[in-house]
Amino acid sequence: MSEDVNPFESLQSQIDDAAAVLDVGDDVIERLKHPERVLETNLTIERDDGTLERFTAFRSQFNGDRGPYKGGIRYHPGVSRDEVKALSGWMTYKTAIVDIPLGGGKGGIVLDPDDYSEAELERLTRSFARELRPLIGEDRDIPAPDVNTGQREMNWIKDTYESLENTTEPGVITGKALDSGGSEGRVEATGRSTVIAAREAFDYLDKDLEGATVAVQGYGNAGWIAAKLIDEMGATVVAASDSSGGIYDPDGFDPVAAKDHKNETGSVVGFEGRKEITNEDVLTLDVDLLIPAALENAIDADLAEDVEADVISEAANGPLTPKADEVLEGKDVFVIPDILANAGGVTVSYFEWVQNRQRFYWSEERVNEELETVIVDAFDALVDTYEEHDLENPRTAAYVVAIQRVADAFAEAGSWP
Ligand code: NAD
Repeated sequence: MSEDVNPFESLQSQIDDAAAVLDVGDDVIERLKHPERVLETNLTIERDDGTLERFTAFRSQFNGDRGPYKGGIRYHPGVSRDEVKALSGWMTYKTAIVDIPLGGGKGGIVLDPDDYSEAELERLTRSFARELRPLIGEDRDIPAPDVNTGQREMNWIKDTYESLENTTEPGVITGKALDSGGSEGRVEATGRSTVIAAREAFDYLDKDLEGATVAVQGYGNAGWIAAKLIDEMGATVVAASDSSGGIYDPDGFDPVAAKDHKNETGSVVGFEGRKEITNEDVLTLDVDLLIPAALENAIDADLAEDVEADVISEAANGPLTPKADEVLEGKDVFVIPDILANAGGVTVSYFEWVQNRQRFYWSEERVNEELETVIVDAFDALVDTYEEHDLENPRTAAYVVAIQRVADAFAEAGSWP
């Protein structure tokens, strides 16, 4: 990657872009550019061989003006204080654009989980849960899965918290297994919002989704579900990729069969003899819709020059660098920002939390219907603001809507003497 991008600076520059058109004071904007607090903690656990190892972990609580902090916990060697701060800010504006009554948070532990046994990961996760205990709770801060964490880690955190608090409180965490209080529809939710938002964008731009060509970068949870659902909507998936490379067929292919092939072989590459292409090729194909669903900063300014898609729906968090954004704006590519496109995940997490609190569980059909309403309403709010302020891109419109909502909640709360 030629651009050195600090994610926290990217977040702050996105807020500055929106602040230029917002009727919110600079002093309030300054507050909304920084987390309320960041826990940095050292976790020391016993390895299976009896030695001790220390790990650095973070939890950033960015903003709680609209409700309890909400956001995932990731396990990755690249986790840093600035990354966690940025991700917690994006969560704040994500929950605000989809108008669910939650704030933003994010956490992480600096490690490569592949280097540790399941028992070591359980000790580490429970150790982190003990540190988090005074900060979290269904009315305080509600963690969730993120990179390299899933239902298993969430169940460990829930169990540690409930044991120490001597209670049952499934709403302290979301992304749980169904039997432990998880929600129907959660696994598909991110891919689902990505394609609902794309469908709304095509409608807004008077483009036909039926027969539209689609390329998907990243064929994990978000990417492959998006491919499956957009195919069901009548579009044609012509390319897909994962960390081993990409495949291309101008006539399209069956996304479910491609996923089966990936499950069997570890990659989409080699699927029914489809032409093999590079990851870069996938991003620069002449398609109607591009869905980046892999990594942050996948498209930099140089690559953006070669992007030929008309619409991009960001399943991944931060797949475009700020400079790539500028290039794509100049080329009139309609970019549905991550804070809306992939907000299905946090929205169904919110539904999970609601169901936990009600102790009443919804059908998958109801979850999907409620999600549809939330994403369509958010898209409409974005477009109204985009047009009203004649904004240069939909991302800024999303931040304008979201920041205004957080600023309003802050103002309505009044101030302490
Ligand atoms: P995942 O681990 O299930 O899948 C990631 C996919 O990306 C894998 O297929 C992997 O092979 C592929 N990949 C990795 N490096 C690549 C590269 N260089 N080129 C092409 N493909 C590559 O992860 P996920 O849950 O699908 O998340 C993907 C993105 O979506 C992340 O940015 C994540 O933050 C974001 N996201 C996910 C959710 C969710 O609920 N899963 C919610 C919000 C945002």
